[in-house]
Amino acid sequence: MARFLYAVAKAILFWKPLKSYMDMTNPWRIQQLPQLSIHWLALQGVRHLVLDFDGVMAPHGDAEPLPEVLAWLKRSLETFEGKIYILSNKPLPVRIDYFKQHFPGVIFVVSPRKKPYPDGLLKIIESSGAKPNEVCLVDDRLLTGVLATQLAGASAVYITQPYASFKKRFWQESFFALLRNLERFFLA
Ligand SMILES: [Mg+2]
Repeated sequence: MARFLYAVAKAILFWKPLKSYMDMTNPWRIQQLPQLSIHWLALQGVRHLVLDFDGVMAPHGDAEPLPEVLAWLKRSLETFEGKIYILSNKPLPVRIDYFKQHFPGVIFVVSPRKKPYPDGLLKIIESSGAKPNEVCLVDDRLLTGVLATQLAGASAVYITQPYASFKKRFWQESFFALLRNLERFFLA
């Protein structure tokens, strides 16, 4: 509840920049992660890339990223070796183990306070020594991930068509689809 009220209060404060992600012409919004060009990001000055997990790399609750995301990740690591992070509000041990085993170059960040609190991003900014706006988070939620980037001074890529598996987890996916619609409605 405290996190919800915090999100609403900060969203009012950052209403304008958050709303800009609903503009179809905003280049910082894409449908899904495999469309994200690492070279374009580098040209924008991004040096450290932070990825949300649920919706961005796989449907909600899955343990491993989807095959198309893995292919994208392998390509991206060629440019961003040691500079790709996962920042999920669900840092499940099975996910942490997966990356440790298959992608030791990807840093899994566990933050005690979940997004939209900027703690996880601030931790990455501090440990990398990068300027805040050189750190970019890819997230499918405006009032958690994207809001956290506003609070940390970081950049954000907004995912507009997150992965979802209604077959596997109907109620969970419906709940998150509802949240996404509510936040778009709230900002519009
Ligand atoms: Mg997500």
